[in-house]
Amino acid sequence: YMDEQVSIKGFTEVETISESFNKMLSRMQKLESSRQEFVSNVSHELKTPITSIKVLADSLLSQDAVPEELYKEFLLDITDEIERENKIINDLLSLVKLDKTAGEMNIASININDLLEQILKRLRPIAAKRNIELVFESFRPVIAEVDEVKLSLAISNLVENAIKYNVDDGWVRVSLNADHKYFYVKVQDSGIGIPEESQDSIFERFYRVDKARSRETGGTGLGLAITRNAILMHRGAIKVYSKENEGTTFTVRVPLGYIA
Ligand code: ADP
Repeated sequence: YMDEQVSIKGFTEVETISESFNKMLSRMQKLESSRQEFVSNVSHELKTPITSIKVLADSLLSQDAVPEELYKEFLLDITDEIERENKIINDLLSLVKLDKTAGEMNIASININDLLEQILKRLRPIAAKRNIELVFESFRPVIAEVDEVKLSLAISNLVENAIKYNVDDGWVRVSLNADHKYFYVKVQDSGIGIPEESQDSIFERFYRVDKARSRETGGTGLGLAITRNAILMHRGAIKVYSKENEGTTFTVRVPLGYIA
């Protein structure tokens, strides 16, 4: 009887080990396929501007006497494509750097009110071009232990998006609040909104709701992936609420004290 018990127990344990092994294997397979997808996306994204540049240059070279006007127009297009390539490379580097330095948080006590004011100050001229009002509302002074560079990158991306995907004469409201454990940053806009079916996907690398619009505004589809990574590294959380043609709100929650 005792032997039977032992053998039954042994059997169950073997089952459990093989189950968890299968789970691990399936997780690794998922990771590998997402890595392959990422590499294939990167290649595609990097190739697109290069292809355009090639077409533009070839078409100039194939004509004998190019009017100066046309020449300049094509060169301007080429410059735009180079700028775009640059943006993709820079965003990729930010993303890779975040992954690599996942364990290396540069934590210091930071005045979050000042940090947000600085971000808004830098972006106000860009918003002003389309007469978009940028407002900051603080419910209390907040000092928190954060990696200033990473947090700043995360919030900047949200505010840049709130401007990019807004309407002319619209508004962006950034607010800061805190309780005894967390601080909360809300970035709210009066923009075009995000369709319900896309709301789960926007944090994926290279995902855009409207490729043409994202491209027009210099988007790479990496911004929110960077933001999400940076927030998760602070053991924080990010959520989106949005209604098409009404606007979008991103809420970020970060612990006041860094949890290593
Ligand atoms: P992008 O470089 O294209 O802006 P992001 O990763 O920052 O990439 O955002 C992914 C997509 O999510 C964008 O292409 C856009 O469609 C959508 N999006 C992000 N923020 C907003 C916003 N505030 N309002 C509407 N759509 C947004």
